[in-house]
Amino acid sequence: MVRSIGLGVQALALLLCAAPEARAACEGPVALQILGSGGPIAEGSRAGASALVWRDGKAVLLVDAGSGAFVRYGEAAARFEDHAAIAITHFHADHVADLDAILNSGAFSERTKDLPVIGPAGSDYFPGVRDHLRALIDPETGAYRYLSGYRDGTEGKAKLLPVDVGSEGPVQVLDDPVASLRVTAIPVEHGVVPALAYLVEIAGKAMVFAGDQNAMSDGFVAALAGRQPDILVAHNVIPEGEGQPRGLHRPPSSLGEMAAAINPRLLVLSHNMQRALVRQAEGEAAIRKHYKGPMVVADDLACFRP
Ligand SMILES: [Zn+2]
Repeated sequence: MVRSIGLGVQALALLLCAAPEARAACEGPVALQILGSGGPIAEGSRAGASALVWRDGKAVLLVDAGSGAFVRYGEAAARFEDHAAIAITHFHADHVADLDAILNSGAFSERTKDLPVIGPAGSDYFPGVRDHLRALIDPETGAYRYLSGYRDGTEGKAKLLPVDVGSEGPVQVLDDPVASLRVTAIPVEHGVVPALAYLVEIAGKAMVFAGDQNAMSDGFVAALAGRQPDILVAHNVIPEGEGQPRGLHRPPSSLGEMAAAINPRLLVLSHNMQRALVRQAEGEAAIRKHYKGPMVVADDLACFRP
């Protein structure tokens, strides 16, 4: 399910899997599973951006829940009860549209423990995580007011704890000793959209979710330069070359510069859009001018064990 590029991937104990084996292959001390490897356009079989961080067979962290993530979440056999938190990078629909569906699914679970939902604070253009949740589950005005038990932990539901992260950062947003999980939010530049990246430290391993960011995200690179995480997940949205929109995303050459500075043990390209994939060789060459380490293009349900 995953095409590997470059050297040394086996040394990272990279596991490739697809449903229904996904759950078994993602077991182990720590694993990353890409639930949705696609973008905002309905153009194939890829779900929108979403990933799980697994610890000892439990999906402790859900990062984004884009369109289609609900189905992949079920295929991965993730359990709502096991989440230490949900972290949303930003509120474009291809990153959050299926949060509704996953919360609806979670309403059938046994979970009653509070659940932090982390995301960017709002702006004039986008509601933050608190307002987004209010729009869904407010008992008076929410689109899904029948789920308003999530607001206060009534009706047998977990109480959702919104964590709004401003544009100052990095800031540690979660420290869960039970899961040995620490999450740090790092603001990134994504046009007018308030957006975050996440550094996830878990049981001695480190993963970085770069989120959607353009080439002006200097603070993100500075915060992680030389950090050498086990895995860096980055978008693969636009091809190299002139005439491409640069306001929201890094082109491949900029991805390469970013990866070279952060120097992960594995670069996972996700958020794969067709306009980039049809010119993938050109994009990889642009990345390779800067970043020389292992690199893969992920498909839905791919698992990586650092
Ligand atoms: Zn976006």
